[in-house]
Amino acid sequence: MDGNARPMATVVMKFGGTSVANIERIQNVACHVKREVDAGNKVAVVVSAMAGVTNQLVAWVKDANPLYDAREYDAVVATGEQVTAGLLAIALQAMGLKARSWTGWQIPIETSAAHGSARILDIPGAAIKKHLDDGEVAVVTGFQGIEPKENRVATLGRGGSDTSAVAMAVALQADVCDIYTDVDGVYTTDPRIVPKARRLAKVSYEEMLEMASLGSKVLQTRSVELAMVYKVRTRVLSSFVAPDAMKPFRIENIEDIGTTVCDEEEIVEQQVVSGIAYAKDEAKVTLVKVDDKPGVAARIFGPLSEANINVDMIVQNITPDGRQTDMTFTVQAAELNRALDVLKKAKADIGHFDIRSSADVVKISVIGVGMRSHAGVAAKMFKTLSDKGINIHAISTSEIKISVLIDAAYAELAVRSLHSAYGLDSE
Ligand code: ASP
Ligand code: MG
Repeated sequence: MDGNARPMATVVMKFGGTSVANIERIQNVACHVKREVDAGNKVAVVVSAMAGVTNQLVAWVKDANPLYDAREYDAVVATGEQVTAGLLAIALQAMGLKARSWTGWQIPIETSAAHGSARILDIPGAAIKKHLDDGEVAVVTGFQGIEPKENRVATLGRGGSDTSAVAMAVALQADVCDIYTDVDGVYTTDPRIVPKARRLAKVSYEEMLEMASLGSKVLQTRSVELAMVYKVRTRVLSSFVAPDAMKPFRIENIEDIGTTVCDEEEIVEQQVVSGIAYAKDEAKVTLVKVDDKPGVAARIFGPLSEANINVDMIVQNITPDGRQTDMTFTVQAAELNRALDVLKKAKADIGHFDIRSSADVVKISVIGVGMRSHAGVAAKMFKTLSDKGINIHAISTSEIKISVLIDAAYAELAVRSLHSAYGLDSE
């Protein structure tokens, strides 16, 4: 079958800030888009603001008034994407393609009223589909939509363009959502730490979700959740690969480049462990010698949750006489001081304790859906770390993940050793 006889695929292409950082790069993006159009695919493009622009806009808002009105914050920060969308449409037109830019409110991408971190509620896809059917490229602003009740622009939270792209793919029933970024896929771990890290051809939604929330910041967590719910096949690709060195999207050669995030069932050679993630932004708090009586955990964690402080790992150690307990847990490092403050205020309620804390810790996680059916994954992790003399402060597990908290100084050694121990090193 020749290229023209194939049914056309609908492709959503998303380009992040570094991929559209200047006019030259926007023209490079236009070449990637042209490759897909020339191959007969229908294309909607979702763009981020040019690199650094959103940061600048946020800084201006804060300078104007640290206690800004969230609606006006959105009015300001949503503009970055509008610039990129218009510029890309112009670059595409200059190449002889039909193209039109669309902001969130024009489509309209309907969102909740949580300004600054709104959720997408609905995207009517029919109108845009008609444009695609007419051979026009739709260039859509990421990161934003409109809150219909007050008719105001709302943004989705930092990194939200990934979520815009997946939501567009749902609305258009696209065959793939290609997320172009500055790396050429998802790796078994951070290649800057482990040069032997390998690109994963495929990774399941569940694993990607764990990786996304554990510090591998390739995709916004929410975008992966959305992709999982609606089963959107999502690829991570590099826009820095020459546009003509890449093949246009065809379902049969999807694995040739990038990383495809997809359903577990689509992954034939599933590894037990598919990746090692690390997160440096955690801090450890230990309440030493708290009276061990019913309700003490509630009196510690209740006030923290009321203050909106997320607690991650929790370990409780009883003293030999059984009367007192040490309670160790982790919070985001940025929230450590606030957490300590909340605990001091709750002291009358909790009873006597000494408090210790440290932000010099990292959380290392081993991730893989294969853990559900294989024993010994945790034992191997503990043995590997103990062989290197690395002490574990806290452990937490889920069905497809084991995390340990260790001293920050050992982060790289731990990641490297675990990467080899689970057979992930490339030859
Ligand atoms: N420009 C927005 C940000 O920097 C959204 C995005 O790029 O995903 O957070
Ligand atoms: Mg991003």
